[in-house]
Amino acid sequence: MSIDYDDQNIFAKILRGEAPAHKVYEDDDTLAFLDIMPRAPGHTLVVPKTPARNILDATPDQLLAVMKTVQKVARAVMKAFGAEGVLIQQFNEEAAGQVVFHLHFHVLPRKAGEPLAPPRSDIEDDAVLAENAAKIAAAIER
Ligand code: 5GP
Repeated sequence: MSIDYDDQNIFAKILRGEAPAHKVYEDDDTLAFLDIMPRAPGHTLVVPKTPARNILDATPDQLLAVMKTVQKVARAVMKAFGAEGVLIQQFNEEAAGQVVFHLHFHVLPRKAGEPLAPPRSDIEDDAVLAENAAKIAAAIER
């Protein structure tokens, strides 16, 4: 298993401002932005600002910072989407479903009986993503 960090991954480009993203929250150590192929409206990704491939090479400080932001975003998506629950997902290495090799946690608002879209299905309209990002940003407790 390789634990090399490739700084050309798309989330590294977003962090450097070289690729666009619909941001919902950021602090000194973490960034939260919408997944462009959401499995549910409000599907958000939380990443550390410093390099980590996944949970296997992340430092305790990176995990602590990211989980604090995951909780903030989880609470915000519950409010913003009137959700009944929230699913947190995180994949490590290709065999476990990881596609982008910068540590990230998925935050998915859930409602009973509403199926999740399959992973990486359709790219959402930019206007919808912008509206959903604004809703979540407004619901974040500072
Ligand atoms: P994972 O590596 O955990 O399987 O998932 C990577 C996630 O990144 C997928 O849910 C996919 O939809 C999302 N994704 C892939 N490319 C981009 C992108 O360019 N921008 C954003 N915001 N999300 C992306």
